[in-house]
Amino acid sequence: MNNKFQGMMHAELDRLEKEGLSLRIRTLDSEQGPACTIDGKYVVNLAANNYLGIIARKDVKEAAKKAIDEFGVGSGAVKTIIGNTRLIVDGEKKLAKFKEVEDVLMYQGGLTANSGTIPALVHDGDLIFSDELNHASIIDGCRLSKAKIVPFKHCDIASLEEKIKEYESEPGTKMVITDGVFSMDGDIAPLPDIVEVAKRHGAVTMVDDAHGEGVLGDHGRGIVNHFHLEGEVDVEVGTMSKAFGVVGGYVAGTHTLVEYLKNKSRTILFSSTITPADAGAILKVIDILTESDDLVHKLWENAAYFKAKMKAYGFDTWRSETPITPIIIGDGQLAKNLSARLFEKGVFAQSLGFPTVPKGLARIRCMLCSTHTKEQLDFAADMFRESALELGILKS
Ligand SMILES: *Cc1c(COP(=O)(O)O)cnc(C)c1O
Repeated sequence: MNNKFQGMMHAELDRLEKEGLSLRIRTLDSEQGPACTIDGKYVVNLAANNYLGIIARKDVKEAAKKAIDEFGVGSGAVKTIIGNTRLIVDGEKKLAKFKEVEDVLMYQGGLTANSGTIPALVHDGDLIFSDELNHASIIDGCRLSKAKIVPFKHCDIASLEEKIKEYESEPGTKMVITDGVFSMDGDIAPLPDIVEVAKRHGAVTMVDDAHGEGVLGDHGRGIVNHFHLEGEVDVEVGTMSKAFGVVGGYVAGTHTLVEYLKNKSRTILFSSTITPADAGAILKVIDILTESDDLVHKLWENAAYFKAKMKAYGFDTWRSETPITPIIIGDGQLAKNLSARLFEKGVFAQSLGFPTVPKGLARIRCMLCSTHTKEQLDFAADMFRESALELGILKS
């Protein structure tokens, strides 16, 4: 063991601990539902991206089991060798229909979709205009591309246009990239305006719909459907690891885009495909969403109910427009203490501090799900109020 190397890591861990930035990673001891067992304790779960409760659905589990029986447990290779199972091919077709695009390419997750797609599409000499609050996987993809990254102010069209104009004379490809729904704040990108500005300046548009999938639009078709922008966005990235309740990612767009990425995207070429179980489950999830929009409606109903209740108790839900409900606390340590107090009282909601969110805007992020009962939401809100009063965050 290299002692200097171990010491370097040790010193950094000590620093994180001293500054209250080290992570406490909890362990899930049961199936993930609206309530579940975490570190041995049964709690109401306000932390999952499992918006539609798909993780625990019997029919989806059955589809995954059937896929294992037919195709085995692993995919055995990358897509371009022998990892391209019939289930993945069918899933790409079905998802393309659901998303109302020409074609879809499945990735192993949203992160590999971003980090494999962006560097394949833009290069040294090109320009990326990126919302300053974009997801880390977008930022990594941008960095890998070697294109010049120009951040614009969060959801600010004037700022975007100003930046594009500043580089008007540059000859390279210009690409505007934004999250659809921002995961820390729960606000929605002004996609129609972004598309309009990009078009006017000859720029390409890319949106990451990770938190819009299964949440926004008709039957949860996502942000492009929500804004009626079909055919207007050049590259759509998404994940099957959130509302879809499985694991996987995708890129949606034209046949040309998909064929190009099959040949050029390094995470397609050098990392194995999703497992048969994942692909089989995804096929079932698309069927469920296509058949009925009940789950999506229930999700929004629960989100509205919880948000209204928290606001009435005097909490600040920031600029959330979606089921992602931040509760702004301000101080990082206080947010951590509140999350710990809530856990003791039977509610799990994650606190988020710097550097994940800006200093002074530490929060507890509440994630709503279509399978939460009113009783669970009432209990969670009441425990929030009780804990916040005890910690002096709310004044009675
Ligand atoms: C969660 C998330 C991802 C990553 O998706 P995975 O499938 O978990 O890799 C990518 N982009 C955004 C905006 C996300 O919120």
